[in-house]
Amino acid sequence: MSIALRFLGGAREVGRSCIELELGESGRILLDSGINLGSGDRNPIEPFGKVDALLLTHAHLDHSGYSPEIVKSHDCPLFSLPPTRDLSELLLLDLLSLTPKEERTFTHEDVMYLRKKEKLVSYEIPFTLRNAEIIFFDAGHVLGSAMIYIKFNGKRILYTGDINLTNTRTVRGAQLDLPAVDYLIIESTYGGNSDVHPSRKKVERKFVMDIEKVIESGGKVLVPVFALGRAQEVLLTLIDHMDSGVLQKVPIFVDGMIKEVNKIYTIHWFWLRPELRNKIRALRKSPFDHPYVDEVRDRREIVDINEPYIVVTTSGMLQGGPVLDYLKYIGTDRRNLIYLTGYQVKGTLGRELLDGKRDITLPRTGETVHIEADVKFADFSAHADQVNLLRFISSIKDLKEIFLVHGEEEKMIDLEKKIDERGLTVYRPSLGELVRL
Ligand SMILES: [Zn+2]
Ligand SMILES: [Zn+2]
Repeated sequence: MSIALRFLGGAREVGRSCIELELGESGRILLDSGINLGSGDRNPIEPFGKVDALLLTHAHLDHSGYSPEIVKSHDCPLFSLPPTRDLSELLLLDLLSLTPKEERTFTHEDVMYLRKKEKLVSYEIPFTLRNAEIIFFDAGHVLGSAMIYIKFNGKRILYTGDINLTNTRTVRGAQLDLPAVDYLIIESTYGGNSDVHPSRKKVERKFVMDIEKVIESGGKVLVPVFALGRAQEVLLTLIDHMDSGVLQKVPIFVDGMIKEVNKIYTIHWFWLRPELRNKIRALRKSPFDHPYVDEVRDRREIVDINEPYIVVTTSGMLQGGPVLDYLKYIGTDRRNLIYLTGYQVKGTLGRELLDGKRDITLPRTGETVHIEADVKFADFSAHADQVNLLRFISSIKDLKEIFLVHGEEEKMIDLEKKIDERGLTVYRPSLGELVRL
């Protein structure tokens, strides 16, 4: 009985990650079911038959955004780590609220139905599904993120989802003591030759120093972040540097879904890196509770403040959310600073700013804004860079073939060459491509 892999999304693109695994006659499982957040088709290709189970690596919408539609139409169970369930529910409800009524493809009830179909799993605990052995391993990307190992009929597959090998403030780097694998499906977001992440320490230092300079001269700082993962890293960085006296104590206003995600990070403390876990247990409070951190209740009051402050808000790529309101005020004053902190997908406003465009059109309202504030980028990445992707590949025993997913094509080509030089077989599957193992 052979295995057929179909790449339903995330093939030569970042977004709508979705891989179909046909296990001979035993059944069909999906690995992730995400949507596209930038330009291009929103949804993955529909599966080629009845789906028996959906397995989620983590809660980011490019991996989970299409799960309500899949679970509803196939009435299948949904497997993930406990934090992923809570986080993806939050992100899906937020997505729903931001989608105009006529464009919605799922309902509030569909999101609630996921709860009924959920099967919670843990790292490193094997279970059997449709005659396959499945194990989730820690991917080190965000809270609850996992790589998925599948063994069926003697063939072993590992799908990385999004991975990060280095420790961050909230989670430990990905596990490297993995079982031997024949086929590896690996993300390649930062697989390009020029993709070298500086150490987190360096990134944090520059980030804090740049902000300090702007505050010193009376300016304000706008930090657009992804609500899940990046927001928590940025907040803990700011809090820590204020506590140690490196950064001046000014108000940090938190707006958007970040507050809710912070709560889930605190509730699910068990899955955080041990240092943070122990701190939460010892202090018996959220690590995001701090005298200088304030939740925004009325946005108009904030923009009227004449003193320096920092706003940490969504969305990270500026394609919607409260950040657009702040952009109109903070972005139009040359004393201020906009600090982008994450990957900016092609076709998003964040990418335009990063590429130097200053006359921008706000999504939805169509308003035009001229950006006078300085724009900087901090590489707080939660993805492995090229060196680390290669290090991860080298750590895997018995590897026969590698499939690159979740990357822009130029970056994949760079990574493909590097893997090829090491004498390993590597492919860049195209959208909808079928591969028999
Ligand atoms: Zn992710
Ligand atoms: Zn992703």
